[in-house]
Amino acid sequence: MECPYCKREMEKGILSGDGRANVTWKAGDKKTGGFDRFIGIGRLTAVKSTLTTFTVETYFCPFCKKMIIDTDITN
Ligand SMILES: [Zn+2]
Repeated sequence: MECPYCKREMEKGILSGDGRANVTWKAGDKKTGGFDRFIGIGRLTAVKSTLTTFTVETYFCPFCKKMIIDTDITN
C-alpha cells in the first residue's frame, strides 16, 4: 500500500494484544460505553480475536510514523 502522505511503500504488519476485551472505536473524544460494547457497537471488523489475543493487519509508514487499517465499524 502506498502512503497517502509521502507516497512511499508502506510496511505490512500485524498489530496484536490482549484479546479479553473487544477492540472498539467511537467517534469523538469519549471511549466506547459499556452498553455499546455489550450489544456490539463499535467493533472493528479487521480485528481477529481469540480468548487471549487479538491481531489486526496494518500498514505502517516508517517515514511519516503513520499506520493504516482497512476496517469497518459495526453498528
Ligand atoms: Zn509516509
